[in-house]
Amino acid sequence: MNLSHILIYLAIILSSTSVAFAEDRPNILLILADDLGYEDLGFQNSPEIQSPNLDRLAANGIRFTDAHTTASVCSPSRAGLMTGRYQQRFGHEANVPPTPHGMDLNEITLGQKMRQAGYRTGIIGKWHLGNLDSQYPTERGFDYFYGLREGSRSYFYNPKKDDKLGNHHGIEENGKQVTFEGYLTDVLGDRAIHFIEKSSEKPFFLYLSFTAPHGPMHGKDEDIARFAHIENPKRRTYASMVWAMDRAIGKVVNTIDARGIADNTLIWFLSDNGGATGNASSNLPLAGFKGIKFEGGIRVPFVMHWKNRFPQGRVFNSMVSALDILPTCVAAAGGDPSSERPLDGVNLLPFLDSPQKTVPHEKLFWHKLWFSAMREGPWKLIYVQDYGYALYNLDNDLSERHDLSKIMPERVDKMTKSMNRWKEELSEPQWKEGAQWFDTHSKNHIRIINGDDYLIGYPKQ
Ligand code: CA
Repeated sequence: MNLSHILIYLAIILSSTSVAFAEDRPNILLILADDLGYEDLGFQNSPEIQSPNLDRLAANGIRFTDAHTTASVCSPSRAGLMTGRYQQRFGHEANVPPTPHGMDLNEITLGQKMRQAGYRTGIIGKWHLGNLDSQYPTERGFDYFYGLREGSRSYFYNPKKDDKLGNHHGIEENGKQVTFEGYLTDVLGDRAIHFIEKSSEKPFFLYLSFTAPHGPMHGKDEDIARFAHIENPKRRTYASMVWAMDRAIGKVVNTIDARGIADNTLIWFLSDNGGATGNASSNLPLAGFKGIKFEGGIRVPFVMHWKNRFPQGRVFNSMVSALDILPTCVAAAGGDPSSERPLDGVNLLPFLDSPQKTVPHEKLFWHKLWFSAMREGPWKLIYVQDYGYALYNLDNDLSERHDLSKIMPERVDKMTKSMNRWKEELSEPQWKEGAQWFDTHSKNHIRIINGDDYLIGYPKQ
């Protein structure tokens, strides 16, 4: 066989492989909510908020009950999600990257990974990983961007403020600021439909990053009216924002269905962190909220729906992380999730194929400035600088009410050592928030001001 024969032979093998991939590989839709309360969906047992479309995905997909993001605030959580790596490895520890800061340009994003795998990639909605043009989504692996560079904005077009020319809260489409009509959550859903309907030989990877139900608290009148039975007006508006997000998701999923690609589309749904104190969300039965390391800040509703691979609805109870989404997507696309730099997420597919396999994560870690936490199986350790430790067993104390640190000092020691070893692998923060804090020195109550982290323990009743 001479060289030209070998080349032809190789070409045939490669082309037949890529045809097989084009048929088999799933489209991927990653849906992210913003500051959603842990219990504020139908399938999370909300007593007052309905989410029929997400409930359907949860019932027919895999619902993860012990799922976590890597931070309790927006930007670092998204940096972990986009890289599959603890964001502190590249100094993305604090929130709100002040310009010129943003996600380290040396990091490989989920968008880049999927583009390398031959996917058409898009992000619709909130980016919040840097405002500079060099940090722009289309420079970071996405073919298409419709949304805002910043972390939040009005839900209506507002040319006097967010939509002023050059404002990074404005809505942009591939680098050009645009006007829009109507309610932003509806608009983002419609843009997602537009992206999916665009015909292409390639499978798509779409990251649909809603701003809902993050503040400002803006709802549509008719949606708010639906929740007239909720007495607290802010909670009423919040419920309408979740309802609108669920409706938009329903329209997107119906589009996927109508195109006959529903069975081979892998859909993820999660929130970037827990419900905030400012948006009238509820994280029950969890303690705490956005900004702190109680479960209410970092444990989130988490669903995967992929009919072709996992036809039955089920519940998965082992600990998983938003870090796992990148390697799982790469593996689902037929790629190799391993990486030259340490990846902290794991490919979940083998664990979902055979649930008797060992758990995806024995341990998970959190750290931001003065506040750290760690999970090891059911054990949860929280550390607050200058305050000390709290230890909980989530198997019988999910609400983190009974601090065991004083009666189990050996476990505290062991976990602290493990957490400190993890911290040795991290970089210095690339920026810090202007955080000052003080404690009231009440028994288990510390209040921190001017930062995101502002409560550990329970306030005095
Ligand atoms: Ca958030």
